Amino acid sequence: MTANILDGAALAKSIRADMARRAAALAAQGRQPGLAVILVGDDAASSVYVRNKVKDCEESGIRSTLDRLPAATTQEALLARIRALNADPAVHGILVQLPLPVHIDPHTVIETISPEKDVDGFHVASAGALMTGQRGFLPCTPYGVMKMLEHAGAQLRGAEAVVIGRSNIVGKPQALLLLQADATVTICHSRTRDLAAHTRRADIVVAAVGRAKMITGDMIKPGAIVIDVGMNRDEHGKLCGDVDFDSTAQVAGWITPVPGGVGPMTRAMLLVNTIEAAERAG
Ligand code: NDP
Repeated sequence: MTANILDGAALAKSIRADMARRAAALAAQGRQPGLAVILVGDDAASSVYVRNKVKDCEESGIRSTLDRLPAATTQEALLARIRALNADPAVHGILVQLPLPVHIDPHTVIETISPEKDVDGFHVASAGALMTGQRGFLPCTPYGVMKMLEHAGAQLRGAEAVVIGRSNIVGKPQALLLLQADATVTICHSRTRDLAAHTRRADIVVAAVGRAKMITGDMIKPGAIVIDVGMNRDEHGKLCGDVDFDSTAQVAGWITPVPGGVGPMTRAMLLVNTIEAAERAG
């Protein structure tokens, strides 16, 4: 193996420690940061995610509440709950865990969250702020990836960056952040004709697809930084990314592991956004 490991778990730990200090400073002024999490229904994976988010908050001195609403909750009842949280000065961040039951429109729900409390960064106001270079909240996964690139000392200015995936929560905001950092950015997706032709000339590859081990070492330029956002199960049911770690690590300069890469950073950046929301609330 030639690649250095970009250890997201270790970086996330230091970010959490930093956030605990900022939370304590706010609490000392009587302004303890608060995050409200809403889970509708009983999706098993979502239950684990929200439990982890609440646990992270507790460990960092952020007050958190978890509303577990039944799957049959009406959209109007959910919106009413969000409006109440919007008006609560002790709540600085509101997170509605996705996916929602099919009878609830996720766009309406997200747009009901006050942009000042949109710590997931999914509101159109946050997306618009990112697009136009204004202050908003960055979606946690691409924000975490940028922190990892910074940590690896990546020279982004003028670099060729290839983002694979164009979702609203990962691919598109990731591409905008890299563009903001002066990289030359290509976005690839399921209709891209020759994916390998793009990845082979990239100094930075961010894979956010959801297909186990689809990026292999022969698709990577020697020395490139490879960030694996994907979370999949391999043929043995083991957690793996979109990148074939073994072959890619022979070629890349830096690589993120799965697990222990982007996942912990995504969790840490939610704390960062919540603290920032509390600090901005003044
Ligand atoms: P989406 O399903 O919303 O988007 C996947 C993207 O991959 C789409 O843009 C799709 O293209 C593209 N794609 C599909 N097949 C190919 C292909 N063969 N070649 C190139 N591009 C392709 O997923 P998300 O963005 O929400 O998530 C992506 C992955 O990241 C998932 O594995 C998810 O679990 C993981 N994830 C991990 C997080 C973490 O914290 N580690 C956080 C969020 C997500 P098209 O638009 O044309 O359909």
